[in-house]
Amino acid sequence: MNAPETLSAALPAAGESGLVAWPLIRTLVAFDTTSRDSNLALIDWVTGYLKSHGIESTLTFSDDQRKANLFATLPAHDGNVTAGGVVLSGHTDVVPVDGQPWNTNPFEATQIGERIYGRGVTDMKSFSATGLAFVPEFVRRGLKRPVHFALSYDEEVGCVGVRRLIAEVVQRGIRPLGCIVGEPTGMELVVAHKGKKSWRCRIRGHEAHSSLTPLGVNAVQIACEIVTYLTNMARSFRDDGPFDEAYDVPFTTVHTGLIRGGTALNIVPRDCWFDFEIRHLPFDDPDELFAEVRAYAERFLPEMRKVAADTHIEFDALSTMPGLDTGGDSEIAELGRECNAADGHGKVSFGTEASLFHAAAIPAIICGPGHIAQAHQPNEWVSVEQLARCEAFMRRLADRVCVA
Ligand SMILES: [Zn+2]
Repeated sequence: MNAPETLSAALPAAGESGLVAWPLIRTLVAFDTTSRDSNLALIDWVTGYLKSHGIESTLTFSDDQRKANLFATLPAHDGNVTAGGVVLSGHTDVVPVDGQPWNTNPFEATQIGERIYGRGVTDMKSFSATGLAFVPEFVRRGLKRPVHFALSYDEEVGCVGVRRLIAEVVQRGIRPLGCIVGEPTGMELVVAHKGKKSWRCRIRGHEAHSSLTPLGVNAVQIACEIVTYLTNMARSFRDDGPFDEAYDVPFTTVHTGLIRGGTALNIVPRDCWFDFEIRHLPFDDPDELFAEVRAYAERFLPEMRKVAADTHIEFDALSTMPGLDTGGDSEIAELGRECNAADGHGKVSFGTEASLFHAAAIPAIICGPGHIAQAHQPNEWVSVEQLARCEAFMRRLADRVCVA
C-alpha cells in the first residue's frame, strides 16, 4: 500500500527486451490485482509515480473503499485541463489464476524468448504501463492539449468501477477529444464492438407428486419452453441476420448459460431459474428483443394461475453494456490511425469500457498490445513485437500532442 520512497529504486532495471516500458510493465504486473481483491497498492504506486512528475491524481472509490479508480490530467502548456484532451484508459484488475496451470509466477512478468508471460501482460497492464512510461516525455516536451490517464477497477466483473470515473469526469466539465482504451486488439484500431445485456429468469411453479402432474405447475418445463424460444431467436439471427461482416461473429447472439431447477424426479418442480444474454450489434435493440421474450413468457401465466394463484415468471436484469460504434471518420479514429501509422479499422465481438466513454459523449477507440485469445488464459503472454508497436504508437502520439 505504501508508495516506494524513491521510485527509481523501486523500478526493476530494463530487461533485454529493450522496451522503454519494461520496468513499468514489471511493476504493474507484480501487484496482484485480481478483481475480488483490493487494487489500492497499485493505485497508490501510480499516484506516487505521477506525483514524482508533478501530476496530481483524483481517486474515486468503491463503496467498501477497498478499490479505486485513478484519473490524472497532464495539463496543456497553456494551463488547459478540460478541453480537447486525449484519455488513455486501462483497467487495473485482472482475472483469477486459481486452478490454472502456470509455468511461471503469474505476478512476475517473465521474458522467455520473444514472449513476456504474466497475468495482465495482455489484459491489460502493458498498455497502461506504456502510457505511464511516456509521462516524463510528455512533461518534458510540453503538451498542446491535455493528456488524461484513466485507470479503473472491477472491469472484469462488469465494467463496474469505470462508471464512477466517467461520472466524475463529466461532472468536472472535462470534455476530451476522445479516449483510447488499450484492450488487446493486436494493436489494430477498433472503432466498434457489440453491446451485451443479461438477465435471470425466475419461474415459480407449484409442487405436486409426480404421479399427479396436473395438480402441479412444472417450473423446469416452462423454463425450457422459454429457453427454446431464446434458442430459436438465436437461430433466426444466425440464419437471417441482420449481419455486419466486419465482426468475427457477424450477427447478434443469444445464449443461455446457466439453469437450475427441481429437487427430485418424483416431485413436480416448484422453482427454476436460468441466466441468458444477448450480445447485440450496435444497431440491434436488446430491450426490444427482451420485450419479445417477456411477452412470450407471459403467455404461460393464465394456465399456471389456473392451477395455483401464487405462480409467477420474473426477470432480473443482471448487466448492461452498451454497444460501441465510433465513426471510422471521427477525430479520435483519425488520431488512432496516425499513431498506428496504418489505415483501416475493425470491429470486435467482446465488450470494453470504451462503450461507456462513448455513451458519455467521449468518442472512444480501442487499440492495445496482445490478442484477446491470450487473455484470461494460463501462461497469458504478449509478444515483445506487440509491445514495441505499442511504444511506437505512444511515441507518435507524443509527436502529435507535444509542443516541442
Ligand atoms: Zn481487459
